Amino acid sequence: MSETPGSDREQAVLDAVPTGLFVGGSWRPATSGAKLAVDDPSTGKTLVEVADATPDDGRAALAAAVAAQPGFAAMPPRERGEILRRAFDLIMSRIDDLALLMTLEMGKPIAESKGEITYAAEFFRWFAEEAVRIDGQYAVAPNGASRFLVMRQPVGVCLLVTPWNFPMAMGTRKIGPAVAAGCTMVIKPAQQTPLSMHALAAILTEAGLPDGVLNVVTTSSAGKVMEPLIRDGRARKLSFTGSTGVGRALLEQAADKVLRTSMELGGNAPFLVFADADLDAAVEGAMTAKMRNMGEACTAANRFLVHRSVADAFADKLAERMAALRVGRGTDDGVQVGPLVDAKSREKVVELVGDAVDRGATVRVGGDAVDGPGWFYRPTVLTGVPLEARLTKEEIFGPVAPISVFDTDDEAVAAANDTEFGLVSYLFTENLSRALRVSEALESGMVGLNTGLVSNPAAPFGGIKQSGLGREGGSVGIEEYLETKYVAVNL
Ligand code: NAP
Repeated sequence: MSETPGSDREQAVLDAVPTGLFVGGSWRPATSGAKLAVDDPSTGKTLVEVADATPDDGRAALAAAVAAQPGFAAMPPRERGEILRRAFDLIMSRIDDLALLMTLEMGKPIAESKGEITYAAEFFRWFAEEAVRIDGQYAVAPNGASRFLVMRQPVGVCLLVTPWNFPMAMGTRKIGPAVAAGCTMVIKPAQQTPLSMHALAAILTEAGLPDGVLNVVTTSSAGKVMEPLIRDGRARKLSFTGSTGVGRALLEQAADKVLRTSMELGGNAPFLVFADADLDAAVEGAMTAKMRNMGEACTAANRFLVHRSVADAFADKLAERMAALRVGRGTDDGVQVGPLVDAKSREKVVELVGDAVDRGATVRVGGDAVDGPGWFYRPTVLTGVPLEARLTKEEIFGPVAPISVFDTDDEAVAAANDTEFGLVSYLFTENLSRALRVSEALESGMVGLNTGLVSNPAAPFGGIKQSGLGREGGSVGIEEYLETKYVAVNL
């Protein structure tokens, strides 16, 4: 059902969200009394104000997490798993309201918000099951004289920082394994989209998470609040999802006290279409890889590299699909493309498209911002994009598909790998040996082979090169929150 801005249902969903800081199991105002505004990117208007944490609030949150750590580490794994499982059930039972809330603060269409919420909840279900599978090892030393006992223990207090583009899933991907492993935490959501995280904290409390295990500090001063916590030394782990630039700065800060780190950073995904590809499947995959989240995804296809023999046909089909997409407020029925998150993000898309056109690219469809309130940009296909264009080097984070051509497999792989990023690559081919050869040669942590979607809570998500360190999800996801202790046993 479509919602008009400010409708009773929208207001009811907003009124139900806690707007304070969540410290030691209670919601409270910032010590300074300051608040920050959360805006609707489809109207530019403020939806609600939430408490704006100061460095003192951050320290209080850390103290609460430190105090809760020993008790939580001692909680039986089954009980920790059951908290996650109950949270999964609660999220899924409230998906309609949570989706409306997410769409209001972030802009994506309701159907996509539901998709993200399902994905987010699945991390809780997955890690509920992993909580009871933390094992160790007992082994005989090679010379038979002694024994090795290897145990897995929680890392300890974690600092978690998440971005605005997936306001709930980027949180559950960290909170799920941290809870499963027995770690307490301070999480700082993005200031543009804190509401989904606040709603999630309330659900986890309802699911039985003990006080102090999860503390939420929303702030407009991310650096000032987080740096003292990173340098404090009592937190033992930092997990960050966001841009490579901020990730790099946080790695430097974490070096001070040698924190364990997980970094899920930026991407510049190549999308390769070979001459033998099933073109309709490639276009379908392109629509998913490009248009999920309006292109505001680290996994978004950023560069389309298409074999010369099929480039025109691919561009025609993609342009037709992109032109048919309905742009509008994400709460409206049938809308497939919402607004970008803010004016600055849209301005960057305008600049990148302008740069490509100045260098000779042709606009096949779209190519401009939409007038009126909100930060809308039309779905765009560019052809004949020279490889020197800025949008082949930088994350577009918008609904723009730039197409370049290649002639040989080696040329395609070289172009795909010509980036400091290495999160995900996509390739479409019907030839098995080419599929495997190219998958091996692509420098990325993940490859979408004949698919435009790689994200799955049961699979290891993460990048290589400057796209990050560590993996989230899958059976390795919990490793990031566990230490290994070895006991040498003298019999
Ligand atoms: P961002 O600017 O790096 O911000 C990410 C988070 O870091 C936000 O919570 C932000 O707070 C916080 N932050 C900023 N400066 C900080 C500092 N000095 N100290 C501590 N925290 C700080 O990234 P974004 O624009 O929100 O998100 C988009 C980026 O995330 C893209 O590069 C995208 O590729 C990447 N991303 C990667 C993945 C992945 O899994 N690899 C997933 C999603 C997104 P504020 O809100 O206050 O700025």
